[in-house]
Amino acid sequence: MNFALLSAAAAATGHSATPAWAMLAYLASGVLFILALRGLSSPGTSRAGNRHGMIGMAIAVVTTLVVHPPMTTELLKCGGCVPDPQVLDRLGLAEILAAIAIGGGIGWVIARRIKMTDMPQLVAAFHSLVGLAAVLVGWAAYLNPEAFGIVGPDGMIHGASKIEMALGIAIGAITFSGSVIAFLKLAGKMSGAPILLPARHAINLVLLLAIAFFTFGFWHSQSLVDIALLTALSFLIGFLLIIPIGGADMPVVVSMLNSYSGWAAAAMGFTLHNTAMIITGALVGSSGAILSYIMCKAMNRGFLSVIAGGFGAEASAAGGAAKEQRPWKRGSAEDAAYMLGEAEKVIIIPGYGMAVSQAQHALREMADLLKEKGVEVKYAIHPVAGRMPGHMNVLLAEAQVPYDEVFELEDINSEFATADVAFIIGANDVVNPAAKTDKSSPIYGMPVFDVDKAKQVFFIKRSMGGVGYAGVDNDVFYMDQTMMLLADAKKMVEDINKALAH
Ligand code: NAP
Repeated sequence: MNFALLSAAAAATGHSATPAWAMLAYLASGVLFILALRGLSSPGTSRAGNRHGMIGMAIAVVTTLVVHPPMTTELLKCGGCVPDPQVLDRLGLAEILAAIAIGGGIGWVIARRIKMTDMPQLVAAFHSLVGLAAVLVGWAAYLNPEAFGIVGPDGMIHGASKIEMALGIAIGAITFSGSVIAFLKLAGKMSGAPILLPARHAINLVLLLAIAFFTFGFWHSQSLVDIALLTALSFLIGFLLIIPIGGADMPVVVSMLNSYSGWAAAAMGFTLHNTAMIITGALVGSSGAILSYIMCKAMNRGFLSVIAGGFGAEASAAGGAAKEQRPWKRGSAEDAAYMLGEAEKVIIIPGYGMAVSQAQHALREMADLLKEKGVEVKYAIHPVAGRMPGHMNVLLAEAQVPYDEVFELEDINSEFATADVAFIIGANDVVNPAAKTDKSSPIYGMPVFDVDKAKQVFFIKRSMGGVGYAGVDNDVFYMDQTMMLLADAKKMVEDINKALAH
């Protein structure tokens, strides 16, 4: 949203050589964005990180507006003079302020109303806007290159600018259509199952070569047909890269699209000669790429195969095993409370269902009650638990769970062998042993918690029918040491707390 505003402001106002003070202001906003990323890396500093990001963006937007004053301001400044035609091409202050008010107003309403569980699809929707903004700015620069100051003495757009525009449009279009599909899948408006076209890798390769061909053609001839075809094919490949991805692999896709949106903004920053956009785009692009790499490692997926699209798709297509009718044990809150009270060590594994039921506060109370009884309590967080990176950490921080009780997968997985209780609350895929044993499963290869090593497993979910995000059955339900606690997570934990208190 911010990038879109910044692009629109810069595009609307055109550009000229940037004065030194403005370069310094852009540098300051770049430093603030770096501080924002640093702050956002931990729940304790995330508010400060957000503030740094907002101040950095405000500095960048105001600097752009001062360096390229809106048409009305320029006209007032020069009195009755005949202004430069480039100035007449710019938007007036009222139009710019109206655009900021409309965009900001919509963002404000969405931020107030959005449910925590809907955040992933909102993030995907915002990425799509960044991609679309890059495409529109690229086309604006193509249709009115004089306003962007990118025309050479021969009357043609500079060669470098054409490459930047083509790259920005291509990456922006891929980000847009890919993010729209990600949004539809995450919002449940489209089946999360992979859609596999025959020979899709060959199709993608041909499309990529065609995009490179039309980019060359555009650089060579600046023709409308080339830029139109490269835009259309980029929209198409973005769509084709994301439809084969299903099951548990969406988190990697979301962070990858985040990275693409940054690179699209950076490419457009070159076209607009806007240093702040280049810095910010590069920061988003590289941090998104690093996050994708970390997620790939966590999911045991190849980074390059993710970029190529459709990773793990063969497995996903074959997955989705039918549910078996096997015996399982059901327990009550009182049973669970009794056994938890007798335990020495309890490891809690939160997942998406905890977010749905907002059970984090009741869970912290349960941990407090157990600690009062001398039980050691730890939280185990899987890198893809929930529906967005860091989802569980945010919820536990909100409930003021001490950070030193929260552990990453690789740091705690070996401790299940010494745990009396693995307490699974609203998690499913991240504890599913099929990831280790069933090659046909969509989650095969993803590291999961070794809950089967714990002496006792409590599994909170609402029904035996509900599956996790990947849509597969879970052997943990049927283990000898598993007790299913079927209820809404918050209600079940509150009942356990009542029983523990008595
Ligand atoms: P999950 O596999 O989606 O399982 C959620 C579980 O919560 C289900 O068993 C569901 O069963 C239960 N549940 C839902 N609402 C509940 C409620 N109100 N009370 C109690 N239980 C409730 O969750 P996960 O283990 O956290 O795994 C995350 C999955 O999402 C992974 O496959 C991951 O790849 C994917 N994903 C992650 C991200 C990310 O960035 N973290 C993004 C997109 C997708 P019932 O319906 O029977 O209650």
